[in-house]
Amino acid sequence: MRLSRYFLPVLKETPAEAQIASHRLMLRAGMIKQASAGNYSWLPMGFKVLRKLENIVHEEQIRAGHIPMLMPTLQSADLWRESGRYDDYGEEMLRITDRHGRDMLYGPTNEELITDIFRSHVGSYKELPLTLYHIQWKFRDEIRPRFGVMRGREFLMKDGYNFDLTREDAMHAYNRHLVSYLRTYERMGLQAIPMRAESGPIGGDDTHEFLVLAETGESGVFYDSEITDLRFGDREIDYDDVAACQSVMEEFTSRYARTDDTHDEAVFHERVPEARRREGRGIEVGQIFYFGTKYSEPMGATVQGPDGKPVPVHMGSHGIGVSRLVGAIIEASHDDKGIIWPEGVTPFHVGIVNLKQGDSEADAACEAIYKSVEALGLEPLYDDTDDRAGAKFATQDLIGLPWRITVGPRGLKNGVVELTSRRTGASEELPPEKAVEKIA
Ligand code: ATP
Ligand code: MG
Ligand code: MG
Ligand code: MG
Repeated sequence: MRLSRYFLPVLKETPAEAQIASHRLMLRAGMIKQASAGNYSWLPMGFKVLRKLENIVHEEQIRAGHIPMLMPTLQSADLWRESGRYDDYGEEMLRITDRHGRDMLYGPTNEELITDIFRSHVGSYKELPLTLYHIQWKFRDEIRPRFGVMRGREFLMKDGYNFDLTREDAMHAYNRHLVSYLRTYERMGLQAIPMRAESGPIGGDDTHEFLVLAETGESGVFYDSEITDLRFGDREIDYDDVAACQSVMEEFTSRYARTDDTHDEAVFHERVPEARRREGRGIEVGQIFYFGTKYSEPMGATVQGPDGKPVPVHMGSHGIGVSRLVGAIIEASHDDKGIIWPEGVTPFHVGIVNLKQGDSEADAACEAIYKSVEALGLEPLYDDTDDRAGAKFATQDLIGLPWRITVGPRGLKNGVVELTSRRTGASEELPPEKAVEKIA
């Protein structure tokens, strides 16, 4: 992409309404624009990152054997009356009446809708196990939308639902989700720690939230410091292997790690030696639930069991805050000059800065670098504008691409360009082909 043809409306001033770094940086880097309270337009670069996260989530869900689909944002109130949540959900639910006077709502989550799909089409235990998911916009009329996309009203969520014959099978689905979430967050360059949590309006018995440690997080967290050394890494996992998934679950959840809702000071002291006790704040980027027959019973989602008798299915639901993650990644990875994108989610891989636009040699060198970056299957963002060098550098630092290649007539005389790492700030002079090789 050439910056002169792109739409990257960077702001010089720090927007007054933004209280935390990720919100400030997303506005300044031209990633989002507020449309109304808690509602954002995703401008091209923000949209690009959002799509990358979405792709990672899809890939990891499909790898775990979960099946993508899509449900609508608007739902009929009738299903929610059946589950009993139409009244329970309260003011966070945006209620709408259509022209025929029918009660509708903008889905805050999809347990009812998916259970209805399930009961309409699945009749036998032989069709289980089944896990369906979608990535769709949700609306929750948050009392205090804030921190940009972190607590929006309209936000993008991946929500998945498992249907199983027994509690044990449903716990395997739970563990599969835990493993796939660990992989998902690590691919995004994040450490998200599973912590025991309260189930809230979804209801249920077993639940873990995934938290990214950050001072600006809205949850208080209490944990054993050993937990921060755990990495899933690039180990192989067979998602059908019940014992293997369970062992990862135990490895990642056996140490004390809880949010303020479930924290118990006495247990904390008993289980964790003082030197390892940590207290801080975290951002909830996902949650997994096992809730048994909470929806299948009232909504009649049963299958014929092996003995021919109908049994309500065991269910769980599993969410990832896709749009919140964009903010969480920035919160975890920035400095005072701007964003520092992890490689796996960066909107472009390298920025090419032409120090002397219009100089035929510099222009030609930039074009050649542009082509060779593309030939590697990577995306360059070429700053081919007439801006001063200082302004170009400031933009590059702000938008935080992992690499910058700076091209100017002086270096070219010696056959070199400058390659700079955004994360370390280290620069080196190299022939153009060598600089491109290093990025690959
Ligand atoms: P929170 O405690 O932050 O209100 P939640 O527990 O109500 O979140 P869940 O029902 O668990 O949310 O939804 C799954 C995921 O969706 C959350 O883990 C979070 O990452 C994301 N999410 C929830 N509410 C919002 C929101 N208002 N804006 C952006 N993302 C959200
Ligand atoms: Mg909430
Ligand atoms: Mg929560
Ligand atoms: Mg939650």
